[in-house]
Amino acid sequence: MSSLVFLDPAYPAGRLADINAPQLPVTAQGVTRGDGVFESMLYTNQAVRKMEAHLARLAISAETCDLVIPDEHRWRSAIDTAVADFDADGGAEEAVVKLVVSRGSTDAEQALCWVTVSPAPQLGKDQRETGIDVLLLDRGYDSKIAERAPWLLMGAKTLSYAVNMAALRFAQKHGAQDVIFTSSDGVVLEGPTSTVLLAQRDGDTKRLITPMLETGILPGTTQSAIFDAAEQYGWELGYGPLRPEDLYNADGVWLVSSVRLLTPVHTIDAKPLRLDAELHAELSDLSDSIR
Ligand code: PLP
Repeated sequence: MSSLVFLDPAYPAGRLADINAPQLPVTAQGVTRGDGVFESMLYTNQAVRKMEAHLARLAISAETCDLVIPDEHRWRSAIDTAVADFDADGGAEEAVVKLVVSRGSTDAEQALCWVTVSPAPQLGKDQRETGIDVLLLDRGYDSKIAERAPWLLMGAKTLSYAVNMAALRFAQKHGAQDVIFTSSDGVVLEGPTSTVLLAQRDGDTKRLITPMLETGILPGTTQSAIFDAAEQYGWELGYGPLRPEDLYNADGVWLVSSVRLLTPVHTIDAKPLRLDAELHAELSDLSDSIR
């Protein structure tokens, strides 16, 4: 049902492995310290969406963490091998292609790199239709931290997602399905696994706004692709700083990511948000058009 391919110098197209068998040294620092980087991409209609953007971000994340990884060509070959194996085994309408890099057991060792392909979770697909309730949670850093403290690796997609997952569980225990992080100085940041988008309608003007990258958030490939498409359809584009009031006053708020796509937010901290049906339909079409 799921496929696994390791990037291995002895196998130019990648080495297929059994995803259900133990594969990693237990001392790999990706395992023991969450020291590594990753990407999650959507595979649908026989194609991996936005592969170029994901490979570019993987390279930047790796460089930020001083990890040396194989070149783009090697990743593409391993991805081809993995999706071919996945499809040969029955495939799925939507699948998640994950690229993972773990620092080796010692810093001198080569990083361990692999690709998995597995069916996309049903929950994300459902939430695209139903929308979600979200809590605003303090991430605990101020909005200027990224520049001041590069060792925090803000803006890199590292394997250290325990805090992000804990925030999601906290939301679920309190009756919501997702989270929007704010900085300690009250600026809107991002979701634990998604980028925030908001829309404003002003007469004939449609405006799409997302938090600014300088706050230390991950540069979202979905946000970027939706922005490119929206610009062609006459939307004005804007970048934060955004405050919670901006979300409450918007004509629509969405969480977007490669796997979840465009998910409308119904409430924040139990307060209902507006969702302009026309703007939502337009953005859904733009999101579906991403290749
Ligand atoms: N922000 C965070 C923290 C994420 O983990 C993700 C995706 O997993 C995103 C934003 C959205 O990024 P993308 O649209 O490239 O999937």
